[in-house]
Amino acid sequence: MAAKHADASRPAQARAGSSSLTVWVGIALLCAGIVAAVGWSAWQAREQALATAVHRVSNLSTILKGHTAQTLGEIDLLLRLTAEERADRQLRTTSSLVSAALRDPQRVLGIRVLDPRTGDLVQVGGAVPASGPAIDAEALAAHADPARGGLWIGDPVRDPDRDGWVFGMSRRFRDEARALDVIVMAVVDGALFRDAYQQIDVGRSGAVTVFNARMVVLGRQPNGDGQIGRRFAQLGVFRTPNLERREGVYVNDGSAVDGVRRIVAFQRLGEFPLTITAALAVEDVLAAWRRDTLRAAALTPVAILVLVAFGALLDREIRRRSTAETQARQESAVLEATLENMDQGIMMIDENLHVQVFNRRAAELLDLPDEFLATKPHFFEVTRRQFETGDFANADEAFRRWVRSGGLSIVHHSYERERPNGMVLEIRTVPLPGGGAVRTYTDITARKQDQRRIERMANHDELTGLANRARLRERLAEALGACAAAETPVAVLCLDLDQFKTVNDTLGHSTGDALLKAVAERISAETGGRDLVARLGGDEFAILLVGAEARAQAGTLAGRLVDVLSRPFTVDGQVLTVGTSIGIAVAPGDGLEPDGLMKNADLALYKAKGDGRGTFRFFEAAMDREVQTRRVLERDMREALAAGDFALHYQPQLDLASNRIVGFEALVRWHHRERGPVSPADFIPVAEETGLIVPLGEWVLREACREAAAWPKDVRISVNISAVQFRHRNLVQVVMSALAGAGMPPSRLELEITESVLMQESEASVSILHQLRALGVRIAMDDFGTGYSSLSYLRRFPFDKIKIDRSFVRDLTPDSESVAIVRAIVGLGRSLGIATTAEGVETAEQLAIIRSEGCTEMQGYLLSPPRPAREALALITPAAVA
Ligand code: C2E
Ligand code: MG
Ligand code: MG
Repeated sequence: MAAKHADASRPAQARAGSSSLTVWVGIALLCAGIVAAVGWSAWQAREQALATAVHRVSNLSTILKGHTAQTLGEIDLLLRLTAEERADRQLRTTSSLVSAALRDPQRVLGIRVLDPRTGDLVQVGGAVPASGPAIDAEALAAHADPARGGLWIGDPVRDPDRDGWVFGMSRRFRDEARALDVIVMAVVDGALFRDAYQQIDVGRSGAVTVFNARMVVLGRQPNGDGQIGRRFAQLGVFRTPNLERREGVYVNDGSAVDGVRRIVAFQRLGEFPLTITAALAVEDVLAAWRRDTLRAAALTPVAILVLVAFGALLDREIRRRSTAETQARQESAVLEATLENMDQGIMMIDENLHVQVFNRRAAELLDLPDEFLATKPHFFEVTRRQFETGDFANADEAFRRWVRSGGLSIVHHSYERERPNGMVLEIRTVPLPGGGAVRTYTDITARKQDQRRIERMANHDELTGLANRARLRERLAEALGACAAAETPVAVLCLDLDQFKTVNDTLGHSTGDALLKAVAERISAETGGRDLVARLGGDEFAILLVGAEARAQAGTLAGRLVDVLSRPFTVDGQVLTVGTSIGIAVAPGDGLEPDGLMKNADLALYKAKGDGRGTFRFFEAAMDREVQTRRVLERDMREALAAGDFALHYQPQLDLASNRIVGFEALVRWHHRERGPVSPADFIPVAEETGLIVPLGEWVLREACREAAAWPKDVRISVNISAVQFRHRNLVQVVMSALAGAGMPPSRLELEITESVLMQESEASVSILHQLRALGVRIAMDDFGTGYSSLSYLRRFPFDKIKIDRSFVRDLTPDSESVAIVRAIVGLGRSLGIATTAEGVETAEQLAIIRSEGCTEMQGYLLSPPRPAREALALITPAAVA
């Protein structure tokens, strides 16, 4: 089964959404991690840098302390030596030591010995600086209290001689035993510290400073000259708790000197009243850190950017994949929906001939369970199963053999198969590029049925179910093709029902149709289904016979059909009798062209009709000639009508009671320019068939009226009117116009019609008759007794006269059957009050009989043949006929 249909797009989108969220949360965490790590390591580095700085300044201050202690210790030793020397004047050697010390200009500029009681300068050694007295005064003040011993270091004093700083460093020595009480003071060059500290690296803004006990700067490096002599009582180092400590480290948030923030380490020298500070500017300490941190900070956004970019790529990829997945799912859903909703069954077979995909419609059309197909069976298993269920029951043996051998060719092909339930399947196989194939199953049952119906409609007559003209023609062409090749005779029978038109006109079309069906059944029964029977239209049928004995069989069949079809039919509860005329043409003798053969069969049919109907005729070459002759006749008639070659002859009619000529019948005559006189019996039917009778009849009517108008008022004129003229509805107007044109009263005109007028469209014809009668024209029924149902027509219109047909008069002998007929007709006329005229009276005996039977009028050669007008008129004298 194809994948189940599902709306797969939503979960995929949701998954894509959550995946990309994960990516971004991850990226954000990573970024935060980077920032945190960078921050933390920066902070660590800063702490480290600060710790290192603290360590460094501590070390530095310790080193400075040691160095300073040593230097000052040496000076202190010099003070002590000087005091010893003073106490013992004999100590020459020691003096030279002092002198040696004084020679070092870097440290001690001079030694001054003061008498604390007088304040006198008692001894001077070395240089005597200009600032000496100021320093002396300070020292005297500092050592004024004899109880107070210890080393004193004074404030720096600017020494104008040296253009530098000097300070005093002194002790008061008292030894009563040796009568010593002096203040020994060394004038120390302020540059002492400068020189000593010059080499120390404290960075750009670091400083090393030495303070005396009064918190006055003795020396400062670097660039400390400006600060020397300044007192910094408020400095951190001189405030609690630092003031109580011997050493320590603190941070000075803003130097009183220059406002720089520094880490300061301090050392108090103990035996010397000095404080040394070593300070590193925080700025310097953190410079490297700051640089590194800035670099790291600068790299962080880059790293973040890289991460974000990576995230974006990842996200895009996820989205792309999920879009692709969604798309694929959607496509597959669309495909599946399409497959499932197709009207066609589809089955895909893979290269190993296993059913891989199929839709519900395929299972439905093949009547195979979904579950079976869902197992992806081998195609041969499918056909085997179909065999078992009898699906190929109505396939032919060749197909079944093919199916048994597998029934699958992986080539482009299609075929149709009818299933046992009547369903017709169209099965197409389309090979796939990678092997295997797609097979489609289409239910074409309806299409097939339509096709069959259309074929049937194209080839069959809807009413009778027989073949139609097209089908006959097709089969005839085939048979004639075979005939031309192998000379196998082909016979065509053309049938035309006699009197069918009457049934149709009088009983209606539905009865007519039912009759045609009954006729078709009888014909089919006679042919026994062997031969092709067709209805060509109307009441025409045709039969096709093929075979060596076609001619003989056609004759036998035609004879049987004439007989069978003349038997009464019971249709819609009515008993109807028709008959048939049959024309037969046989190939190859009568033609090898379908149309030619049919035409010849038609001619034979025409001949059969002409020969009195209810019979059959084989085609003969003469019939064709007859037709040619008629065609020539028709053409000549047209010319004759135009040229005025027609004339009228008049035959008198005698009233038997008065023995007077009471009228004349106008009869048309044609003197053909080459052939001489042509009988109306020959040209009137042709004129009727071609319609020429209409203009010819009109001419006769006008001519007869014109002629008769001049005759005595009591003489009537009779004019024959053909049934064809009745079909032209202007007959009444033509009659009125002829009468008016001749100036003849209608009462003198008698129109002779035959029963054929009433056989066609009788309602209309009767109506026309009434209109004519209303004009005052008399209506006579001509040739009475020859027709099929003359008697019935008498009831339909009140004729003025019945003309007993010549055929009865001809056979009149006293005891003949004709006498009985004439008697009956005369009796009928008498009872209906209708005049009766005997036609074709040639003998006195005939006249005697019709007279004795009570006929009212006679007409015939005995009295006079038809004559030209002038001669006829001459007859209107008291007749001399017995
Ligand atoms: P119909 O109307 O019955 O005319 C009488 C026919 O009988 C005429 O033949 C006439 O010559 C012929 N006849 C008369 N007396 C005798 C006789 O004693 N013995 C024999 N053997 N024949 C006799 P015709 O003139 O040859 O006309 C034949 C038919 O042609 C007519 O039969 C009529 O049906 C038709 N016809 C003639 N003229 C016209 C016409 O002007 N219009 C139409 N529609 N039909 C015409
Ligand atoms: Mg007549
Ligand atoms: Mg007649």
